[in-house]
Amino acid sequence: MYFIDVILPIPLKQTFTYNIRKEEASFLQQGMRVAVPFGKTKVYTGIVYAVFKDKPPNYETKTIDQILDEQPLITQRQIKHWEWIANYYMCTLGEVVRAALPSAFLLESETIVSLIASEKEVDESDFSDEEFMVFEALQHQPSLHINDIRNILDKQHVVKILDGLLQKKVIEVQEEVYEQYTPKLKRYLKLASNYASEENLRALLDTLTRAPKQREVLMNLFMLSAQQKKPVESVELQKKSDTTASVIKTLIDKGVLEEYFLQRDRIQYEGEEASEVKELNEAQEQAFSEIRSNFDNQDVVLLHGVTSSGKTEIYVKLIAELIATGKQVLYMLPEIALTTQLISRLQFYFAEKVSVYHSKYSVNERVEVWNNVLNNKPKAQIVIGARSSLFLPFSDLGLIIVDEEHEPSFKQYNPSPRYHARDAAIVLASLHQAKTLMGSATPSLESYHNAETGKYGLVQLKKRFGNVLMPDIELVDIKEKHRKKLMKGHFSDHLLEAMHEALANEEQIILFQNRRGFSPIVECTTCGISPQCPNCDVSLTYHQYKKELRCHYCGYHMAMLQSCMACGSETLDAKGFGTEQIETELSSLFPDHTIARMDQDTTRGKHAYAKLIEKLENLEIDILVGTQMLAKGLDFRNIGLVGVMNADNLLNFPDFRAHERSYQLLQQVSGRAGRTEKRGKVLIQTFNPYHQILQQVSTNDYELMYKQQTEERYQYKYPPYFRTIKITCKDRNFDKMQKAAVWFGRALELKLGANVLGPEQPPVGRIRNQFITNILVKIPKQQSLGKTKNYISKVQRSFNAIKEFSTVRLSIDVDNY
Ligand code: ADP
Ligand code: ZN
Ligand code: ZN
Repeated sequence: MYFIDVILPIPLKQTFTYNIRKEEASFLQQGMRVAVPFGKTKVYTGIVYAVFKDKPPNYETKTIDQILDEQPLITQRQIKHWEWIANYYMCTLGEVVRAALPSAFLLESETIVSLIASEKEVDESDFSDEEFMVFEALQHQPSLHINDIRNILDKQHVVKILDGLLQKKVIEVQEEVYEQYTPKLKRYLKLASNYASEENLRALLDTLTRAPKQREVLMNLFMLSAQQKKPVESVELQKKSDTTASVIKTLIDKGVLEEYFLQRDRIQYEGEEASEVKELNEAQEQAFSEIRSNFDNQDVVLLHGVTSSGKTEIYVKLIAELIATGKQVLYMLPEIALTTQLISRLQFYFAEKVSVYHSKYSVNERVEVWNNVLNNKPKAQIVIGARSSLFLPFSDLGLIIVDEEHEPSFKQYNPSPRYHARDAAIVLASLHQAKTLMGSATPSLESYHNAETGKYGLVQLKKRFGNVLMPDIELVDIKEKHRKKLMKGHFSDHLLEAMHEALANEEQIILFQNRRGFSPIVECTTCGISPQCPNCDVSLTYHQYKKELRCHYCGYHMAMLQSCMACGSETLDAKGFGTEQIETELSSLFPDHTIARMDQDTTRGKHAYAKLIEKLENLEIDILVGTQMLAKGLDFRNIGLVGVMNADNLLNFPDFRAHERSYQLLQQVSGRAGRTEKRGKVLIQTFNPYHQILQQVSTNDYELMYKQQTEERYQYKYPPYFRTIKITCKDRNFDKMQKAAVWFGRALELKLGANVLGPEQPPVGRIRNQFITNILVKIPKQQSLGKTKNYISKVQRSFNAIKEFSTVRLSIDVDNY
């Protein structure tokens, strides 16, 4: 008898054994897909893990349905990497597979397929009869389940047929699709080249004395191009000249003006040689060669470079060098949806060598990138991706760049695998004998600690590119401003003054407020009660635009109340404030300026985020209010002022990383100010200007922040000195949840003693009607991580055997965030 061990994309156990025929055994290899039956009626696509002979397990094995691949779709290195992830983050290989593969590769009984809508005629001639039947059926019904297809074909094993149709791009699996945004083209105007000489120009202006409107347009064109040193947009010129489109058209028809079109992302590179890597300045050159020499004896290097120091250009040069050797490069970013800027920047240099990979892209796009990477195609030599890109089948990886390595969104929280993409990337690189470069203006304490202790190389870049000064950061004491009655709404006189000044200089302004919505809490001034979410233990947030109360945890919403539900009084008052309220205040304070808001509510729609960025770049927005979305490494040219409305709610967040996070966020938003010659200004409003973190932000003193924070971490036993594992218990029944958690905690204490904390309810103790409690295990450096995890798994197995706790959901989060 021959058998295979198969990884199924489910959280049950590591592998499942099936029996196969002898011929199949000689054909199958690790990394190929097979369709297998599971339970009574289910079918799954699984990955072959091992093929073996004559070792019947002590239970009856089923036969596989079908073999789906001719060649392995997954490399041995990938399997090794995934085993590391499963092992380190305490989950099953199946959970990793589920996260790793595009769903089109994992057809299963639950999958729904439909025809791809396309103008192109489908070539039916190379369909098999069965493929044709499925194709025909899907023309009558928009979508079909695998079981429907079984009935239609009167056949049990249909996965291979569907897989074939998927590969022919006739059908697709249903899922939410995210389309890539194509920036719109804008019209620009310039003086026709034959008027370049002064002589001709003078003659032209003379002839135009009888056409004052046209002359006016020309004068404005000269003024605008002199003022802003960038292309003059047609709309802008028309507005400035207070004229009509037809006057401009006349000038174009006469051959005086020339029109041309640019994609908005090209503007930045105007005047620079296309696709030539920029020459690095001295400091960058120095950093670049330090990185290279560090790589001689280090696998991981941390590039600590202040905002706008030109880190990206250094990455570009490294990539250029590396791809010349034929190797692959992975460029990881915290959130790809937020990185249209970077994608166009890299495409600018590397054109068709760049592929983008993201879980929100359509399955077909992802499958295509997967196959290109697997076959080491030039098209996918450089992959830009969010965390899931580290699951791609690289064959010859030379370098991984982890940009903005401090970003918490590199850690996947739900569902399992709860992996940290930065850390998993380092392991991936080592499997390829490749190098990892991490970059940040505000490194995580963990990474900086690793650099300081020599585990990673460290390269510093302390100056901004082009002698641009670091922004001037000032703290504004709003307690005092309140006392002196110098506040207008949430704006201090100081902030307002700075805003007027910036606007007068035609600079743009970014305002940062860490909460979305209008005012987080509505409170009855008579009885003090605020409306709560029925499913979660949080107060509802007031959203003025829709006059709604919303829960930010579960999405529950209701119309704004007219009167208090508890006492009936109509004295409802809004407490606190969010982005929406700031926006409202702004529109009455600055009625003549365009104001926009960037938060989860305004960026929900397709491309909404990219459109906002585009508008800001095109100077169509004067003041942008936003949440921490604004902090994401964006490079804007014209931001003169950044205002932080209130730093305190960041600092007071109940989490051991809150201070580190505050420093990072405030530095990063500040970094959006003044990225050109003029020094940018940052005003941070706070009730507590003497807070050490705010002082460190204002003096840009990362080292001091690092020193103080790590001392605290040491004292309170947190990373980077201790590792942490968080165990969460959830249940709809509070008592059961509590009992289960106490049992688990006691069991852990037996061996781990005082390093087990809790169970403790988090600040929001109930979400979507599930009560939640956490246990935190702290692991000192000298204690074996592997043994500790084994012990936790052992406790978990005993726990799972207790009937009373069968409904309690348990999740384990290693290196939790
Ligand atoms: P960081 O990634 O450190 O925030 P960037 O790489 O975005 O900094 O650089 C900031 C700005 O300076 C960008 O507009 C970039 O194009 C420009 N820049 C950086 N290095 C160079 C260079 N060597 N030559 C020309 N422009 C550069
Ligand atoms: Zn009341
Ligand atoms: Zn809720």
